[in-house]
Amino acid sequence: MKNIYVIGIGLIGGSLALDIKANNNSAQVYGIDTNDAHLKEALELNIIDKTATYEDLKNADFVILSVPVDVAIVELPKILDAIHDDTLIIDVGSTKLPICNAIKDHERRRNFLAAHPIAGTEFSGPKAAINNLFQNKTNIICEVEKTAFKLQEKALKLFSELGMRIRYMNPEAHDKHIAYVSHLSHISAFMLGKTVIEKEKNERDIFDMAGSGFESTVRLAKSSPAMWTPIFKQNRENVIETLDEYITNLKRFKGYMEADDFDQIYNEMENTNHIKDILKGIQ
Ligand code: NAP
Repeated sequence: MKNIYVIGIGLIGGSLALDIKANNNSAQVYGIDTNDAHLKEALELNIIDKTATYEDLKNADFVILSVPVDVAIVELPKILDAIHDDTLIIDVGSTKLPICNAIKDHERRRNFLAAHPIAGTEFSGPKAAINNLFQNKTNIICEVEKTAFKLQEKALKLFSELGMRIRYMNPEAHDKHIAYVSHLSHISAFMLGKTVIEKEKNERDIFDMAGSGFESTVRLAKSSPAMWTPIFKQNRENVIETLDEYITNLKRFKGYMEADDFDQIYNEMENTNHIKDILKGIQ
């Protein structure tokens, strides 16, 4: 792996670049980004070695596409047009069906691998990039059979160097499951943050009284709207389904409160404590 091009040199692209450089002395990492300030930061932070353009993609051994999901479906066909026959392109977007559909008939479909590393933070841009972000994390790969076998092997070697576990899924199943475990969590954090900000107008009070419970639950509300709006748009149907179920549970909880049924309140929480066993071992 010699010439690596990262398109979208933010949190995920930058973190991948850092690990790839740490694991491969001979790797030259090139950054492509519409945000010049991010390219400058990425150079200063030694995340990339040089900046590049789409014209240079003909020299790429390996391309990582780590831009917002609405941008990815527009850019991926152009990137496939610009590479050579042995280049591997991996995208890392949080939705998988729209991107798989966007290039399903492209003559270079076999150069592309659809992936979603389940790793990240609430921060954006190259300054947010960190080493070892992907260690012991799950990487979901979709439609692996549509990627050339030789390029699959190349991708698996990279993911193994990053310390990732692999799960294979079809894009429909990915988008449905991820709506529950990731997209709903973000909406829940955003709306919890909104509820508290609207009620507690005095920001100093929020700051002083925000114990670890509020702070940790609302952490995801710091996430970028520019990244999350297109995710919700692309996964609209699944997200609406999760919201229906969540709202039903919230209403049920409120009903028990109104009915002074604290036995049921206790039961609801005790049944959900089971999450401790399910999440045991996640860092
Ligand atoms: P990020 O930190 O905001 O980085 C994205 C970068 O792409 C930014 O520098 C952005 O510039 C740039 N960009 C936007 N449009 C572009 C274009 N047309 N060409 C080249 N660069 C462009 O975002 P991120 O958190 O790394 O997310 C990147 C992808 O990873 C998304 O698809 C997301 O769904 C996925 N993902 C994110 C996480 C997470 O926790 N954050 C986890 C797993 C997967 P501007 O800032 O100027 O727009």
